Amino acid sequence: FVSLGSNLGDRAGYLRDAREALSALPATTVVAASRVYETAPQERDDQDAFLNQVVCLETGLQPLDLLAECQRIESEHGRVRTLRFGPRTLDIDILLFQDAESDDPELTLPHPRMVKRAFVLVPLADVWEHARGMPDMDVAGLGRATARDQRVRLYEATEG
Ligand code: ADP
Ligand code: MG
Repeated sequence: FVSLGSNLGDRAGYLRDAREALSALPATTVVAASRVYETAPQERDDQDAFLNQVVCLETGLQPLDLLAECQRIESEHGRVRTLRFGPRTLDIDILLFQDAESDDPELTLPHPRMVKRAFVLVPLADVWEHARGMPDMDVAGLGRATARDQRVRLYEATEG
């Protein structure tokens, strides 16, 4: 499961481009895409709202190769790494790679902040029915719990 986020420029366009670029990766299929949600920025509030989405991939790529491809797609869409947690045209994070566990800072799995973030959990719940071999997590329950104080709303102006 991979999360997509954008809060600069044509946000919905960046998410669409990311889905297309992911589906063009070798040995990779986009199995499902969540609805798109709009979320107020969390870590720094001096920036515009994010659009967030989660996609489920089936891939023959190794985790670090998928990460490298995600970072390449980010750069090709104008992502400039400046402020941590700052504005970005496109952020692509790997949330879960089956049951892989890693504390490598280059690729930490599961994504270390995912269980606290409504903007990850709420869209993840949309596509969680596609989970295969993942840790047994109550994604919908965690999503509802975190969404009590983090505003995540459905973004209507786009296809799912
Ligand atoms: P963030 O997504 O936390 O806002 P960045 O997108 O700038 O920050 O990523 C910072 C670093 O996080 C990347 O260089 C990447 O190697 C590392 N990283 C660690 N775990 C993951 C993961 N599960 N998915 C994506 N990047 C990760
Ligand atoms: Mg990232």
